[in-house]
Amino acid sequence: MVSEGAREPARVTCPGCGDSAAARAVPEICADPASVPDGLADRLARQPDAASRGDSWLHFAEGLLMAGVGAALAYSGIQSDEPLYTIGGSLLAVLLFAGTVLVVRGEARGRRVVEAGEERASELWRPASYCSACGTVFFPGGDPWEGPLTPEQFQKFVWTEAGYGKHLDTELKDVALPPGIPVRAGGSPDHA
Ligand SMILES: [Zn+2]
Repeated sequence: MVSEGAREPARVTCPGCGDSAAARAVPEICADPASVPDGLADRLARQPDAASRGDSWLHFAEGLLMAGVGAALAYSGIQSDEPLYTIGGSLLAVLLFAGTVLVVRGEARGRRVVEAGEERASELWRPASYCSACGTVFFPGGDPWEGPLTPEQFQKFVWTEAGYGKHLDTELKDVALPPGIPVRAGGSPDHA
């Protein structure tokens, strides 16, 4: 878990400030968020958060349980001849069930989007470095981009390329990428 800076094979020079000692690999930072200023690891995240399958099952079970309460209410309405309970309980059960299905389906869609873009996201995200001297992200080999990027530009670049553009925070959707940076996937970095 603990990784020494000395492990770095070659020193990389930051194109933003020229410092060659302050850079750390982005994946290393994200693996150890406690070692960097608050929120930095999130700003460098490779992909949006997606509910796991386990989470979705849990949400499904919770939804069913709540719908079951509505159904029980409806049933007690039938038993005690209280039409209001029957109608209210049935409505509640149907709404809760429909809502649960929507939530779980939305989560599955989110997972599919993340999985579909994973390869491209990794391709860009893994080789990137973050310079703590000037707070920029860059690609040590100069590929696919040789200039410095702010963490926001970096995330927008990676996420757009990977097809996660819709999941960017509102303020990140407005972040401008440097002119000339090669955005190939989707081709519309400014439109989500
Ligand atoms: Zn720098």
